Amino acid sequence: MRACPISCTAVKQQFSTCSRKPKDVNQMTRGNPCQLPGMLPNYDPNDNEAGMKILEDLTENVEQIQQRVLEEIITRNARTDYLKGFLDGQFDKQVFKKTVPVVNYEDIKPYIERIANGDSSNIISAEPIIELLTSSGTSGGQPKMMPSTAEDLHRKTFFYNLLVPVMNKYVDGLDEGKAMYLLFVKPETKTPSGLMARPVLTSYYKSNNFQNRPFNRFNVFTSPDETILCSDSKQSMYCQLLCGLVQRQEVLRVGAVFASAFLRAIKFLEDNWKELCSNIRTGHVSDWITDPGCRKVVSLVLNKPKPELADLIEHECSSKSWEGIIKKLWPRTKYIEVIVTGSMAQYVSTLEYYSGGLPLVSTMYASSECYFGINFKPLSKPWDVSYTLIPNMAYFEFLPVKEKNEDGAQYVQCNGVCKENCMEKETEKEDVETVELVDVKLGQYYELVVTTFTGLYRYRVGDILMVTGFHNKAPQFRFVHRRNVVLSIDTDKTSEEDLLKAVTKAKVIVESLGILLIEYTSYADTSSIPGHYVLFWELTSKGNNHLPVLDPKIMEQCCSTVEESLDSVYRRCRRKDNSIGPLEIRVVQHGTFDALMDFCVSQGSSVNQYKTPRCIKSGEAINILDSRVVARFFSQKAPFWELV
Ligand code: AMP
Repeated sequence: MRACPISCTAVKQQFSTCSRKPKDVNQMTRGNPCQLPGMLPNYDPNDNEAGMKILEDLTENVEQIQQRVLEEIITRNARTDYLKGFLDGQFDKQVFKKTVPVVNYEDIKPYIERIANGDSSNIISAEPIIELLTSSGTSGGQPKMMPSTAEDLHRKTFFYNLLVPVMNKYVDGLDEGKAMYLLFVKPETKTPSGLMARPVLTSYYKSNNFQNRPFNRFNVFTSPDETILCSDSKQSMYCQLLCGLVQRQEVLRVGAVFASAFLRAIKFLEDNWKELCSNIRTGHVSDWITDPGCRKVVSLVLNKPKPELADLIEHECSSKSWEGIIKKLWPRTKYIEVIVTGSMAQYVSTLEYYSGGLPLVSTMYASSECYFGINFKPLSKPWDVSYTLIPNMAYFEFLPVKEKNEDGAQYVQCNGVCKENCMEKETEKEDVETVELVDVKLGQYYELVVTTFTGLYRYRVGDILMVTGFHNKAPQFRFVHRRNVVLSIDTDKTSEEDLLKAVTKAKVIVESLGILLIEYTSYADTSSIPGHYVLFWELTSKGNNHLPVLDPKIMEQCCSTVEESLDSVYRRCRRKDNSIGPLEIRVVQHGTFDALMDFCVSQGSSVNQYKTPRCIKSGEAINILDSRVVARFFSQKAPFWELV
């Protein structure tokens, strides 16, 4: 989900004999010979002007394109088992919207599982499903899996290509140097039928579209592909940083997909700069870099001993303060490209500390289901970022969500209480009708629903968005939050229900010792890297109101039990990626949750309807809890995780 130097030459080779620039994307609705299958206009991605023209046309002709996208998806897939049940094999938008239900993952899971177990993919998609993309949401403790097709890789390539002219519009000279993008692949597995199951970015980086991308002078990386594709994340990180440091004078921008990953890289640098400098000084890669591909390419980049460069980097890194370190190590850097919207907003201040005032650029909004939107004003401040949905990516619908508070985007943090529940009820109503992309209203909140080219029909993505404006006729959306997610450090997304289940398992341990958990809440502590989950527990001895004597071993076991009970993405981040630190339980003194309630009521919560928030975001509320902490315990072992 980041700017990527992909040209659609691969697409051209596969599908097209035409090399003319499209004059008008509107021709997509009239069988333009320059159009690739799946509503993808064909153009030269090195041609900025052509790219901008495509974007202008796409955003001018939203209504026609959306109509055509739906028509194409339905016409192709009308005979799939799934749609056959609702449609009579014909395209009719009204019938589609009347009969095809708006669904959650649980509704489509049986189909996905059938495909994973060897059923033909045409039960949901006429195009063969070539792999399943493991998404960060979970179902029954396992990652959700989203279908993907060969054509979909080209759709992603098309999308990535469109990011280039947008960036070039705001930042000059991106062809005069390189990008130090720290990109990683994650573990992958196979389903019983032999389909690959892996995260969307791993799928993309391993694809031909990425690996055989044509040269694009606006998008040259410091990381050789071998270092990105290395499955050992430590070797990958080390080698990518080493290559980035060696080429520091050429680097014009730095980044990673998400803010959390970029900060992890800074922490890695803090822990390893001496060894990196030693490699640069000697021109020899450390022996523990055993991945043959990495060794080979990094040796080439290192080339020869560079003692002066090593001295310089050592000088910067040994400074007491790392404030502005990015600008010092990569002095030509113009911006940091990382997603800092949504749950990643919690990292903005830390990034600002390290960046030395560089702009933080969130280029795109995407998911395993589909790539959605582009930030047309990439230099805007993180809290002002909006994404324009690209109308040929999917057919978009919107479930209106009522926001009861007048203060709009504030609601998530309001009173330290997550007010999602009041929004949820609106969308759960069966009779709520969806709104089309062209009909959304400025200032309104909606939940995104997609019908994709890959076999998802009227699928609730779970993201709540707010309309902030329009680019031509295309609405722009601010990402507000993800439905049901209360805790997130990296790509993990823990819901209130997940947390309750995990806490319920852990509290059994103390209950057997006569200790009761009377209240709990949580927050994502990102003050250190990596961040970690913190649970505040108020405990009491059975039969009296006294704080029990706590055995650290037992409490550590509670921490581990919570971790073991969280979903597989959490456990992978914690065990494999090391992107989440050990979970902490902070035991608070008696009456702490009463103090929290008093605070929430003072902030406007109703006393009668007050429920303890299971996740706290307000700094003031966290202070109230923190000031009453009597003991802290950390998980002592990483939870079990295996590829499934
Ligand atoms: P996954 O399917 O695991 O790749 O996760 C996709 C989800 O990540 C989206 O549905 C959003 O909730 C979140 N996400 C992706 N891109 C952004 C973004 N630019 N800003 C905020 N949240 C995002």
